[in-house]
Amino acid sequence: MARFIRVMPKAEYHVHLEGTLEGEMKFMLAQRNGITLPFADVAAMKASYQYHDLPSFLAIYYDGMKVLVTEQDFHDLALAYLAKAASQNVLHTEMFFDPQEHLKRGVAMETVILGISRARAEAAKLYGISSGLILCFVRDLDPHTAMEALDAALPYREHLVGVGLDSDEKGHPPGKFAAHFAKARAAGLKVTVHCDVNQENTLAHIRQAIVDLKVDRIDHGGNILQSPELVALAKQRGLSFTVCPSFSGQVRGEGGDIEVVRGMLDAGLNVTIASDDPAYMGSEYLTEVLIRAQRRSNLTKAELLQIERNAINAAWLGDEYKARMLARLDIFAKAWA
Ligand SMILES: [Zn+2]
Repeated sequence: MARFIRVMPKAEYHVHLEGTLEGEMKFMLAQRNGITLPFADVAAMKASYQYHDLPSFLAIYYDGMKVLVTEQDFHDLALAYLAKAASQNVLHTEMFFDPQEHLKRGVAMETVILGISRARAEAAKLYGISSGLILCFVRDLDPHTAMEALDAALPYREHLVGVGLDSDEKGHPPGKFAAHFAKARAAGLKVTVHCDVNQENTLAHIRQAIVDLKVDRIDHGGNILQSPELVALAKQRGLSFTVCPSFSGQVRGEGGDIEVVRGMLDAGLNVTIASDDPAYMGSEYLTEVLIRAQRRSNLTKAELLQIERNAINAAWLGDEYKARMLARLDIFAKAWA
């Protein structure tokens, strides 16, 4: 089964580029930029990755970004993730980035986007992996700074496929960003939002996402299982969900993403699986996360293939390219059978 998962063609759309910043690279970039990290070595730093909830995780996650300064830094970060994903037979990925966190440190939008895009072009050529870029609004910062980030990014519109909404959800419902999403849509961008599991007012947030914002995807969203009405709406809309069953039990507590995969599949929802912040979650990339999910939910090979079919169908790509990826998945399934 592990070999099946390793070889299976895959796609993922819920990976935060800044969350792929491995300890070794963090040290390398800190040295390159003359930044002193408060750790003796990588092992000591990784030992500090202790989370008991979303805010305690986010504090460590945002602090780690400070080593990202130059265009070359963003390039190196993105290229390392894309190489890793390609080595796991990920055909296509759509990656989040959090520009507000960089803009507030004085790093220009151009530096961030052009660094990442140069890596995307190289990875396509070197490893054959295609990718998209999703600008995430950091929901617990001032919404004005989210609008500033969008305005700063729109001159680079051709580098983006969509906008998202991440970070600490408590008190920051998706509806608070309606104007931001409307502006992004007017520029032809797709929309997705994090509705993390077991958050305060989670069903109200999921409802806002589906009914008011008419999102194109939902990130996490497992609590939808508590509302047959919302499940029916999501199915009617053909909405896809990016679920992250990494060892996020630490971050999301009991009943996290790992617990909802089986229920969402059985409910007939378009579940996809993704790695979220692999560098901060035991370096579990998509293969390892799928193996974890398979074991916990006793997923069959047919169900794993369905999850990847869902993922390919959920890509923000043209139909022709999706058909080619689906054909590769079918060839794999037949060869394995
Ligand atoms: Zn996320």
